[in-house]
This record gives sequence, structure tokens and C-alpha cells, in this order.
Amino acid sequence: MHHCGACRVEWFELESCLCVGIIMTDRYAVFGHPIGHSKSPRIHAAFAAQTGQAVTYTAIEAPLDGFAAALAAFRVEGGRGANVTVPFKEQAFRLATRLSGRAARAGAVNTLAFNGDDIYGDNTDGAGLVRDLTQNLGVALAGKRIVVLGAGGATRGVLGPLLAERPAAVFVANRTAAKAVALAAEFGCVGGGFAEIPLLPFDVVINATAASLAGELPPLAENVFAPGATAYDMMYGRETPFMAFARAHGAQVADGLGMLVEQAAEAFALWRGVHPETASLLASLRAELGA
Ligand code: NDP
Repeated sequence: MHHCGACRVEWFELESCLCVGIIMTDRYAVFGHPIGHSKSPRIHAAFAAQTGQAVTYTAIEAPLDGFAAALAAFRVEGGRGANVTVPFKEQAFRLATRLSGRAARAGAVNTLAFNGDDIYGDNTDGAGLVRDLTQNLGVALAGKRIVVLGAGGATRGVLGPLLAERPAAVFVANRTAAKAVALAAEFGCVGGGFAEIPLLPFDVVINATAASLAGELPPLAENVFAPGATAYDMMYGRETPFMAFARAHGAQVADGLGMLVEQAAEAFALWRGVHPETASLLASLRAELGA
């Protein structure tokens, strides 16, 4: 079953909607600033082809002070949904008229679905990370000790889904210690500065700081990794100082490409009612990036 993008009528076997005589596709987009680097159009085009869904997906760079206006214009033009990335996730949260439980908890929205006046906001980042860790990388989180580095939007999005996996403990560490303390308290766990990370080693160390973007390594103790620990950098596309440090200290290392693909699959499932298969796309993207 498909929707006509012009009159919203559902059609089944017909080759086109009778209202205009042509097949209209449903429109989606990712909004960010900057957005030129985004792999989301490529990912959603692959999902659409794989599932036979008639959708188009583009990247829209909204002005820093013009996200709400750009989103409104997209809705008027018939947009059915959107992904939202840096720096607009908190604004998207405020613009939503209805929120999923996980978006409400995160205080940030990365996926919007439009239906008339209804703007539904969801956050698929945490589910994407958990799915990548547990399904793609085979890292069970129940009973594990986890440290999340960073206390920005990405950490806010993933803490709820990580805690839902019932780890033994989650510590949030951040350069600005007060932000980690406050964010961790919101989620009922403990936080502090990097120097306050407990001495016991951790089974999973997740780098959700922007340090990798600057080619920097968060100040970590050499014994932060338990034997067989997993080190996960949300950044992707290149070996980061965090990944090199973790590798040198015996950890299994992963980048954030799987999280990117899995959060997109969750968004696609919300919009289209079908969860795409991700393994083949992840393998092709990895081959293209040489990572
Ligand atoms: P924010 O800008 O909201 O937060 C940045 C965080 O990084 C803050 O905690 C900040 O600390 C910390 N930080 C910045 N620079 C440094 C540094 N040099 N050393 C130590 N800490 C630093 O960013 P986001 O939370 O939105 O994103 C964080 C990272 O996660 C980015 O690299 C982003 O690309 C990635 N990401 C990947 C996703 C994926 O799908 N793979 C999804 C979402 C994010 P302070 O508070 O002290 O300023």
C-alpha cells in the first residue's frame, strides 16, 4: 500500500494516484547545520530500495536561527517526517506536539513524524547504539560496568536505553564535571569529572564527547578497561585517538557507524512500519570509508 503525496489517498494496485495521474513519493529530510557531510540520504535511499517504499530523502541545511521556519516550510511542501541533527535536537524537542517516552526522557529529538497538525518527536539514537552494541557487535550490556564520556546531546539520548539494558553501573564522565553530575542525576546514575572516574575498570567505555572531532583524547586512566572490554567511539570514518588508546590497552574497538545506520533504521521503521535489514548497508558503507 502507498500514499499519494498530493492528495494523501492510499492506493494499492494502481500504477498512480488518479488525482494527478502520477505516482507521488513521500518526502523526508535531515535537518542540521552543517549538513553537507550527512550520510543519511544515502542510508535512507538504500532502505527505501530494499523495502520497496516510495520515499525521497534529502539533506536540508537550516540557518542557525531558522530551524523552525525551515521545518514549517518543509511540512507545507508535503514533508512527512524528518531527522534532526546538531545543533537542532533540543529545538526539535520543543517543537514536537507529542513525544515518545524515550524522547521525553532524553529532552532531545532526532526523529519527527508529521500527520496534519500533529508533530510526533522520537529519539532513536539510544536504540541505535544499543542495537549496534548488542546485535551487531555481540556485546551484552546486562550486568556490565559502563562509563559514558561526555554529557552533551548524544549522552542525553543514549542514557535511558543503556540503563534499560540493566547494566551493573553507569558512570557519566565529562570535562565540565557539573554537567555530568546533573545529567547523571536526571537518569538516576552517578557522574563527575574525568579525574573522578572510579578506579575499578569498566567493561564498556563509550566516547560520546566531541573530542575525537578535534583529534583529542579525553584524559583517561590507562587501567580504565577491564580485560575483554569494549571501547566504542560514537565518531566514525577514521581511527580516533580514543580508539588508538583503547586498542593499545587491550580493548575491543568499535566506531559509531553502526549506531548511525541503526538509528536511521529505527526512524525508517517509525515512518514506514517496516524495519530494514542493516548488515549489508553497514558493510558497504564500511568498505567505502575504508574503516
Ligand atoms: P555536544 O556538543 O552536545 O556535546 C559535546 C560533548 O563533548 C560535551 O560533553 C563536551 O564537554 C565534550 N567535549 C568537547 N570537546 C572535548 C574535548 N576536547 N575533550 C573532552 N571533552 C570534550 O555534542 P553531541 O553530544 O551531540 O555529540 C558528541 C559526539 O557524538 C560527536 O562527535 C557526534 O558526532 C557523535 N554522535 C554520533 C552519533 C552516531 O550516530 N554515530 C549520533 C550522535 C552523536 P563540555 O560539556 O565540557 O563542553
